[in-house]
Amino acid sequence: MKTDVFIAGGGVGGLALAAKLASRGVHVTIAEQLKRESPVYKGELLQPKTLAILERLGVIDEIEECGHVLDQLRFQEIKRRPGQAPEEINLTELDYGRVASVYDHALMVPHEQTKAILRNKGKEYEEYYHYLGGARFLGFENGMAKVKQNKEVTYIEAQVYIGAEGRSSPTRDAMNVHVKRKDYNHHFLTVTIPRPEDFTKGKVITTSSCFLGLFPLPDNEVRTVFLIKAGEYKNVKEKGLEYLYQAYGELEPELAEGVRSIKDWKTVQLMIPFTYHVDHYYSGNLAIIGDAAHTVHPMAGEGMNLAIQDADVLGELLAWCKEEGKPFDENLHYYEDVRKPRVSFLLQLSHLSALVYSFRFELWRQIRSRAVQRIYDDDQLHVKQMLNISGLGRWDFSLFDRAIQGSMLPTRKKKVTDRKQQKYLFSEEEDYPWRYE
Ligand SMILES: Cc1cc2nc3c(=O)[nH]c(=O)nc-3n(C[C@H](O)[C@H](O)[C@H](O)COP(=O)(O)OP(=O)(O)OC[C@H]3O[C@@H](n4cnc5c(N)ncnc54)[C@H](O)[C@@H]3O)c2cc1C
Repeated sequence: MKTDVFIAGGGVGGLALAAKLASRGVHVTIAEQLKRESPVYKGELLQPKTLAILERLGVIDEIEECGHVLDQLRFQEIKRRPGQAPEEINLTELDYGRVASVYDHALMVPHEQTKAILRNKGKEYEEYYHYLGGARFLGFENGMAKVKQNKEVTYIEAQVYIGAEGRSSPTRDAMNVHVKRKDYNHHFLTVTIPRPEDFTKGKVITTSSCFLGLFPLPDNEVRTVFLIKAGEYKNVKEKGLEYLYQAYGELEPELAEGVRSIKDWKTVQLMIPFTYHVDHYYSGNLAIIGDAAHTVHPMAGEGMNLAIQDADVLGELLAWCKEEGKPFDENLHYYEDVRKPRVSFLLQLSHLSALVYSFRFELWRQIRSRAVQRIYDDDQLHVKQMLNISGLGRWDFSLFDRAIQGSMLPTRKKKVTDRKQQKYLFSEEEDYPWRYE
């Protein structure tokens, strides 16, 4: 079997890449090992840059239809009071609206729905799109991809092979890249529960020792993420569901009823955060995208977004190669040139956000609370934070910024103009530089 591009793995990254390539007349074959929907939670927050990409792919209407808009993230520090409503110590509201873009919000979309929409988009270009479900990519033999589907082995010959298999990637193994994993002192429990209709804002609730992230989904549901110490899962489970009911109820009384819908630990997923970033994204005619190349701490909600953003840049590049008659492998460096520094930057940002919530003592809570509040009080910090996590641009934090955030310098009174921000939004030339050279 022959194709222009072979993609191993039909997660969000592989599917976004396949849909883009097929829409541009590039023959693509995608092998996904699963036959049906995965029951595993894999993230739902689509950042503004991803929404821009999905719009260009022509799927934004469907995505918005099954999404819940998040225009703001609330950070609430409280004092937990057993058996009573908590006492609020501080509330900071960070706004996507501070980003000078029409994409001024994030969207919470169930992961499998995003995948289904991308898969269906690809199918619209049936001449170019070949989706193999229940097909496991086993590795390379004689320069071809070896795929097993229904006990039969097929060899697929392509001009370029893309590894989008997620954390365990045979393509990455074949590229012989270096992967250094970093672990954290905490894990998360995550579960979706019902929410009151007016509970619509994203919210992170913290005390000196607790963390509960709440991200509303459509249909009056909310994704909850509860931090526990690394290795504590078994102990927490032994305490019974009552432990969760009480913790959620005391941290967010509005969810005291919803949390009781959890009837079985099986619906509660353990999430173990870790990170890595490979040293190169391509080798010869092989390239990797998404979690195959990098895994990010989930605190800033970036993993899925980085995969789709990789797919966008690589997809545009491969489509351009085909249109211009350029060899795919000789141009893969552009993909790494654009994506690797951006991913490094967001990995670092997510890592810092993780550290902010990693230590359980009162003094740390006070420092954190002040630092988060200062992001709001100083407009430049506010704009930088939201712009950076949105993926729409990059505006580095300076030492001066960090000194303001750490209360060593006073906050700036001046508002950042949209015009000033424009300089830091990624231009088409920065996203797709090969077109301009
Ligand atoms: C528990 C958990 C929670 C997460 N929470 C968040 C979050 O809140 N926000 C966020 O943005 N990100 C989150 N992420 C990260 C996010 O899920 C990933 O970054 C994103 O899914 C990466 O997309 P991907 O396409 O690269 O890989 P994946 O989504 O992992 O997709 C890889 C696909 O390849 C298939 N595959 C694997 N091996 C093979 C093979 N040999 N042959 C054929 N197919 C294969 C798999 O079945 C899968 O469908 C989370 C991840 C996990 C694991």
